[in-house]
Amino acid sequence: MKNSFLDKLLHRMDRVGSDDLQIYLQRLAKEKGFLETIFNTLQEGILVIDQKGKILYFNSSAQNLIGIPNEKALDEPIAKYLRDFDWKTILADGKVLTRDIEVSYPEERFLSSYIVPLTDDHHMIHAYALILHDLTRYREKTLETIESEKINALTVLAAGVAHELGNPLNSLNIHFQLLERELRKKGGDSPDIQEHIRVVRGEIERLDSIIHQFLQALRPATLERQPASINEVIQESLMVLKPEIDDRDILLETDYGIDLPPIQIDRNRMKQVFYNLIKNAIQATRKGGILKIATGANDTHLLIAFIDNGVGIPAENITRLSEPFFTTKPLGSGLGLLIVRRIIREHGGELQIDSQEGIGTTVRLLLPLTEKRVRMLTR
Ligand code: ADP
Ligand code: MG
Repeated sequence: MKNSFLDKLLHRMDRVGSDDLQIYLQRLAKEKGFLETIFNTLQEGILVIDQKGKILYFNSSAQNLIGIPNEKALDEPIAKYLRDFDWKTILADGKVLTRDIEVSYPEERFLSSYIVPLTDDHHMIHAYALILHDLTRYREKTLETIESEKINALTVLAAGVAHELGNPLNSLNIHFQLLERELRKKGGDSPDIQEHIRVVRGEIERLDSIIHQFLQALRPATLERQPASINEVIQESLMVLKPEIDDRDILLETDYGIDLPPIQIDRNRMKQVFYNLIKNAIQATRKGGILKIATGANDTHLLIAFIDNGVGIPAENITRLSEPFFTTKPLGSGLGLLIVRRIIREHGGELQIDSQEGIGTTVRLLLPLTEKRVRMLTR
């Protein structure tokens, strides 16, 4: 602060008349105000504390970052706001110090702190500047990146393992069939053995379906989008499942919206979505139940609803639906909804599931209309 306006003023103090003094004081206040304004626009929190750790100054960022309520905090100990520091040692050492800290008040934040002693002309420490920098967002970003890279690596690994499982499984299947044939030839297929065979075959099929679906869920999707009529795609998906619907005596009600705008979708992937959702509804519904499928549109989205009056999903399971492998079915894979969610997300859409135990489940899909309906302006 050498040569500052204040120094000059102090030197001349004895010569300053009382009228001038007022002008000088006004200028001083202005200079201080100017600096304060600048300090308050900084994103960094800045505090000055004295050798005993009392707060002498704080800017508005510091106030936000560590939750200083008001001006009354001046003269309060800094330890009241930043407890994690060993202030006694810091203030005794008089060294420059940097440290990352986490604060929980007024918000969970991650801060980097920098403490510098301020010295006078004789190298005597008379105060400390404490500078705080908010790293919360930066750290979240970093963690997100690490997380998504971890997931990528795991995905590649998992897909590799699943793929490798396919070959021995195939061979197992073939040899099992041969074994079965041999047994039959030798007349060794008693009811007991037949039961064992049935179980093994069922398990092989289950493994095969898990691997198949798992790979499907992981497959990096490059969507092949083409304009399609959503009603048509639903009808095609229904065709495959029609025998199952009839077999279970389920009443299918369809309410197709008319004049729906065509939508840019990957037809095959979208069929996978409908297939999975309809299959879930069928599996949840008792004989003679009802499955309703409705489509419609608003200005921005196509809406598709699958409404069943099946067993429903208990509240404690609703949150688990996004977990891979979550299933309540003895032969389920728990991957269906994962595949559905992923495909819908890739189309920029949204999946909503409402369910009441014992009453039924409604699954809604919202797909953004890429080509918004153009409204003509009439004059
Ligand atoms: P999976 O069908 O192989 O079990 P999904 O991911 O398709 O795997 O579904 C996960 C679970 O969500 C199911 O096991 C079931 O408990 C529940 N679920 C999904 N759809 C419905 C539905 N329409 N009605 C009742 N429960 C459902
Ligand atoms: Mg399913």
